[in-house]
Amino acid sequence: MAEVRVEHVWKFYREELGESGRVLAVEDVSFVCEDKSFLCLLGPSGCGKTTTLRMIAGLEKISKGDIYIGQRKVNNLHPRDRQIAMAFESYALYPPLTVFDNIAFPLRARKYPEKKIRDKINTVAELLEIQDILNHRPARLSGGEQQRVSLARALVREDALVTLMDEPISHLDSQLKAKLRIELKRVQEEWGLTVIYVTHDQLEALSMADRVVVMNLGRIQQIGSPIELYEKPSNLFVAGFIGEPPMNFIECALAKEGDKFFLRSTFFNFELDRGLGSEIAKESKAPQKLIMGVRPGDMTLGKSEDAESYSLQGQIFSIEPHGESSVVILNLEKDVQIYVEVPGLPEAAEGEVAWVSFSKQKMHVFDGETGEVIR
Ligand code: ATP
Repeated sequence: MAEVRVEHVWKFYREELGESGRVLAVEDVSFVCEDKSFLCLLGPSGCGKTTTLRMIAGLEKISKGDIYIGQRKVNNLHPRDRQIAMAFESYALYPPLTVFDNIAFPLRARKYPEKKIRDKINTVAELLEIQDILNHRPARLSGGEQQRVSLARALVREDALVTLMDEPISHLDSQLKAKLRIELKRVQEEWGLTVIYVTHDQLEALSMADRVVVMNLGRIQQIGSPIELYEKPSNLFVAGFIGEPPMNFIECALAKEGDKFFLRSTFFNFELDRGLGSEIAKESKAPQKLIMGVRPGDMTLGKSEDAESYSLQGQIFSIEPHGESSVVILNLEKDVQIYVEVPGLPEAAEGEVAWVSFSKQKMHVFDGETGEVIR
């Protein structure tokens, strides 16, 4: 079993800042990466994902907490004794060796037979499109080529219990990235690799991972499958970070008239189903400070007469054609805009006043104070 368990792990970096000179980079992080699964650590720059990966690799000391690889606690184990393969953004290739010998290095160190080394390297070289540079030395390679060599060197390691990757395709062009997202996932499944993959790119995380750990400011925001994160974000951060264009947010408040509940703002007055109204009244710490969220792709242009939908009105500010779809940006007020994603090109023009509608089921409601989802 090569399951990786991270249990209540903290990391403080000590800096030369005097008294309070320490940076809290990772705060009480816990997750499990199951054997033969693909787990992504996803979050914006500085959220602590690289630090977390480096602690699993043994390149950074853990300040508090435990990390297990398989049944073994590895807190104090040297990186080379952890049976891990690594592809990091800083490629760490050996300059005097050719690309082939760089990839072969960890295999020769583990006494793989030469024929097996050649076969394995050829397979990976084809996959990563580096067949033509196997005889080159790292100094003459582009950043993207060095990155693929580093990735190849990690992928060939059959003995590794876990493969750790930090932004391993960040320097590639978008076409090669798209191809490698598919290939990496295929190889991980076919070869039964256990992968922990760091990225700030939601497309990489959502397309490859079985489970995603979303981080911000050193803390875990949510752990879930890509579809769970998309459909059931647990707070405003995850809702806004996952999805492109991002979820629309509008400030609003709960109002009660008789036994009816409404979600009210300057731009709308939606009557809520009784159950939802009472739920918000019960769950919310500040019912006058709520945030309503709807994904651009869940909205359509036009007024809906359907009792199961809500509609609101705005003025079309701009229309951005994105090929198969377009993004229509509407102004509700000077500083409040909403994005609507529609198939093809809409039959509407900039400057027009337009209705947008969405199903009640697609509406998210967040507590404006805590940022936590209410529903
Ligand atoms: P990026 O994608 O930019 O690498 P990240 O999410 O991987 O970001 P980390 O590199 O883990 O984030 O950094 C987390 C926090 O720890 C940041 O505030 C960073 O400035 C800080 N940090 C990282 N390395 C050190 C270090 N060696 N000394 C002091 N602070 C550090």
